[in-house]
Amino acid sequence: MPERLSNPLGIHALVWTGGWTHEDCELAISSTKQAGYDLIEIPALDLDRIDVEHTKATLDKHGMSAGLSLGLPLTSDVNSEDAASVAGGREFLRRALEVTEGIGAKYLGGVLYGSLCKYPEPATLRARENSVAAIRDLARAAAPLGITIGLETVNRYETNLLNTAQATLDFIDDVGESNVVVHLDAYHMNIEEDGYRTPILACGDRLGYFHIGESHRGYLGTGTIDFDEIFAALADIKYTGPITFESFSSAVVDPQLSNTLAVWRNLWSDSMDLATAARSFVADQLSAHPH
Ligand code: MN
Repeated sequence: MPERLSNPLGIHALVWTGGWTHEDCELAISSTKQAGYDLIEIPALDLDRIDVEHTKATLDKHGMSAGLSLGLPLTSDVNSEDAASVAGGREFLRRALEVTEGIGAKYLGGVLYGSLCKYPEPATLRARENSVAAIRDLARAAAPLGITIGLETVNRYETNLLNTAQATLDFIDDVGESNVVVHLDAYHMNIEEDGYRTPILACGDRLGYFHIGESHRGYLGTGTIDFDEIFAALADIKYTGPITFESFSSAVVDPQLSNTLAVWRNLWSDSMDLATAARSFVADQLSAHPH
C-alpha cells in the first residue's frame, strides 16, 4: 500500500502508450494504478480517438481519476486574429469540455489558450483578447460541472503567449473566473524562468496543477532541474494539488503529440521502470519537504 502523500500523483499517458484504442486505454490506466499513481493525464489533441464511455468505464473499473490535456490545432487557434480560426478553437474547447465531463474528469488543462507550436511572430493584442475571451467562456461552461481549467505555461517554442508564470497570472486576472488555475511545468520553467522558487511563490494558491519533468524529459534526477528548490517552494505555498510526471521517449510515440513536442531521442524504453522510479523520486522529495 503506498504511503499517504500531501499531493495526488499523476502520470502522463504517453509514458505507456501513444494511442487510445480500447487496448491502449486499458494498458495505460491499469499500468498507472500498478505503478502507484492516483491519476492519469490523457492527451486529447485528437478528440475523436477517445471513446468516452469506454474510457470512463475503464477508469471506474480501476478506481482511477483522470485529467485531460491538449494544445489547440494550428488552424483552430483562439490565439489568433482570424475569426474562422478562433471559432474553430472555441468549438474544439467546447468538445474537449464535453469529453472531460464524459469521462468523469475534473481537470482540463494544457495549452488551451492557443496552438501548440512555434509561432512565426509575437502574440498580438487582438489575438490575446480573443484567447482571453475564449478561456472565459470555457471557464464559465466548466464551472457548473465542477471542472477546473488549467493554463499551462510553456516555453517559447510551443507558444508565443504564456511563457512565464507571471504572464499566466496576468492572463488569468484578465479572464476573471475563479475556476482557472496556473499549470506550471518544471521542464518549461527551466527554459524560461529565472529560477523555480519566485514563480511558484508568485502563483501561491492560484497554482492548481504541476508537471514534474526533467530538463531532457527523461528519468527524474538525471538532468539539470533543481528539484530541491521546486519542492521546497511547493511546500512553502502549501501546494496540495496534483503533481503529474511527464516524460517522453521515441520508444513510445503518439504520431501527433510526439512530433509536436519534438520527441526525437530514445531516453528510455521500459515504461514501468521509468514510472516507478519517478514515483519514488517524487515521494522522496515530498518527504524531504513536508507541508
Ligand atoms: Mn507539461
